[in-house]
Amino acid sequence: MANELILICEDNDKNRKLARRVLEKAGYRTHEVVTGEEAIKAARETPPDLILLDYLLPGIDGIETLKRIRADKSIRRMPIVAITASAMPEEMARMGQAGFDGFMTKPINLKVLLGTIESLLARAKAKAT
Ligand code: MN
Repeated sequence: MANELILICEDNDKNRKLARRVLEKAGYRTHEVVTGEEAIKAARETPPDLILLDYLLPGIDGIETLKRIRADKSIRRMPIVAITASAMPEEMARMGQAGFDGFMTKPINLKVLLGTIESLLARAKAKAT
């Protein structure tokens, strides 16, 4: 299964381009944004099948972005995977409680990333039918 639209929200150019390259090679379509505010806007305008959301962003952070998306009935159900640089236990706990569908710490293991995306998309599809 591929061709699903993945929204990549990441402020680091290098990481964002790497994610795009890997996802497109795997057959996904991608949409890139840099801030959480842009991610929310993009999610409303062109609903993606899944969002990859960096935790540390220039404006609102990943958790606030997630909260705003979950508060919007029209887009609240899309799977969201957090990407974080830090593996501080309290931060991990905060992110788990916030309601992310998955999260990964940098440096990203690309195989694990693709596996996570694939299973979340399959789960979302199963739920929709
Ligand atoms: Mn960042």
